[in-house]
Amino acid sequence: MQGIHNLLQRFPKEISVRENEPLSNHTRFGLGGPARFFVNVSSAEAFPAVLATLQGTGRPVITLGGGSNLIVADQGFDGIVLRFTGKSITRKNGKTIAESGVMWQDLVDFHTNLALTGMERMTGIPGWLGGALYGNAGAYGQTIMDFVESVRIYDGESFREIPNAECGFAYRTSGFKSHKDWILLNATIQLPPGDPIEVRQTAHEILTTRNEKFPPTMKCAGSIFKNLFVAELPEKALNRLPPGIMRAGKVPSAWFLEQIGSKGMTLGGIEVATYHANLIYNTGAGTSAEVCQLIDSLKSLVFNEFDLMLEEEVQYIGFPDRTSH
Ligand SMILES: Cc1cc2nc3c(=O)[nH]c(=O)nc-3n(C[C@H](O)[C@H](O)[C@H](O)COP(=O)(O)OP(=O)(O)OC[C@H]3O[C@@H](n4cnc5c(N)ncnc54)[C@H](O)[C@@H]3O)c2cc1C
Repeated sequence: MQGIHNLLQRFPKEISVRENEPLSNHTRFGLGGPARFFVNVSSAEAFPAVLATLQGTGRPVITLGGGSNLIVADQGFDGIVLRFTGKSITRKNGKTIAESGVMWQDLVDFHTNLALTGMERMTGIPGWLGGALYGNAGAYGQTIMDFVESVRIYDGESFREIPNAECGFAYRTSGFKSHKDWILLNATIQLPPGDPIEVRQTAHEILTTRNEKFPPTMKCAGSIFKNLFVAELPEKALNRLPPGIMRAGKVPSAWFLEQIGSKGMTLGGIEVATYHANLIYNTGAGTSAEVCQLIDSLKSLVFNEFDLMLEEEVQYIGFPDRTSH
């Protein structure tokens, strides 16, 4: 690991490296074994040297943000976990340029304080900007793809500015999922002015509701499964939908989960919330293996009942046999 030590000497302020770092300390689920190397990089300009060195080790490299949408294996990840921790937010020519290590909530608060409208309904989503771009985060009718103009990335060879239309954004996904080796560095955001009182009030009300639904100390990843497009539902599922369940062409996966009795289900130290059929959390005594087992049994119960295969919104790390969507 001489290469990594040389990097540290070259970028003593910009890079930190820990060995055998428990990933449970970096995931909202509070689960996950150690990463062989855990590398934080605070300067985008260091990435050409960082990636060249890390790739030279021959070990697999993955990128993490705030860890709020992840299930990491109990065995951990025998490779290098990389995080870009740059968190500057700057305003230029009426646009915001934010680095992807900025906490999502800080970005929402920044724009709410400027009375700019468009992301105030996304208040309370945990994690960092990088993870929000990767998964095209959204809530209450607002989605990041609606106001991101472009995303700056490092692809291992060069820095590039990807315009919104080429980011491959769609419901809870982006083209970045097909380029897992790219590092998302920053986003240029443009929001129109809104009514200052309305923007603040909406953000405040939604945050209050969210904090009740997802208490800040809850060890979870938010909704485990994606919602479903009505147009893609099998007949057996379509036939049983109650009136009024559809919203913007989608049906909550929670409805299907509720029908198979998921609320309150328990497996070891992992539970499904009694009030939210699509919310799995760690009581503190759970394991990632139990989360996976519970996910698998919920999927098979829904499939048996509705011919419908639910798809995880949450991303897997350290599971060679599981697919992240
Ligand atoms: C209580 C709770 C409520 C939630 N509510 C919502 C909600 O309403 N709407 C919603 O959309 N999501 C929600 N989520 C899910 C999660 O908060 C979002 O998906 C969030 O945007 C993930 O950001 P993160 O930084 O934590 O990403 P992580 O979990 O760290 O990573 C997610 C993925 O992004 C990739 N990634 C992260 N940063 C980078 C980067 N810089 N470069 C390249 N790849 C990167 C990782 O490789 C990983 O595959 C919720 C989660 C929780 C715990």
